[in-house]
Amino acid sequence: MKLILLGAPGAGKGTQAEIISEKYSIPTISTGNIIRAALKEGTEMGLKAKEYTERGELVPDEVVIGIIKERLSLDDCKGGFILDGFPRTIPQAEALDSMNIGIDAALSIEVADSEIVKRMSGRRVCPACGASFHTEYKKPEKDGICDVCGEALIIRKDDEPQTVLNRLSVYHDQTEPLKSYYKAQGKLLTVEGQDKVSDTTALTLAALSEI
Ligand code: ADP
Ligand code: ZN
Repeated sequence: MKLILLGAPGAGKGTQAEIISEKYSIPTISTGNIIRAALKEGTEMGLKAKEYTERGELVPDEVVIGIIKERLSLDDCKGGFILDGFPRTIPQAEALDSMNIGIDAALSIEVADSEIVKRMSGRRVCPACGASFHTEYKKPEKDGICDVCGEALIIRKDDEPQTVLNRLSVYHDQTEPLKSYYKAQGKLLTVEGQDKVSDTTALTLAALSEI
């Protein structure tokens, strides 16, 4: 399965991606995680991306398109993959189409802005392994500690309230038009994000069983 996950920042794409990835044994490719890893390593690409991500803006199309081309050419993508956070603009979607890899579906997880703001304020991430948690919805076993690797959890700089509002407006302006784009291709699936992760997962898996 070659799947795109769409949705506002904080809609729960990453969490659903992890679950689908395990169930279908295909890798998740998260441009956000790739960019954060580059930032941490201090690579040239990371330095270029830093000013954008910290303001809650999108990294330029040519940078992320380059990242994705390289990543999708690796062997582990041959049997399918999940794209989490790409494409986020129409030019990115067009670049993906021009790679002729045959995307099966784009699944959009719908969550109201007010709910997103509430969720983001509780989000905690692991700086070491990238796992994400929530103070209410997805508590780690030990408060403030990563279940996966034991590192202390942090609040991402771009999860701060003003940045979240900015990211939401970027989402509505630049990413939401992708719903019509994939609808026109007959590839759009829509799921209403639920309060409980497992409820959203049930809807996601039901939607995927139709493709
Ligand atoms: P979110 O929590 O919003 O889903 P991600 O972890 O996917 O965020 O991405 C974090 C940041 O990385 C984005 O705010 C953006 O600056 C940058 N980024 C990630 N994917 C893309 C993309 N496809 N196009 C442009 N910028 C991107
Ligand atoms: Zn961790």
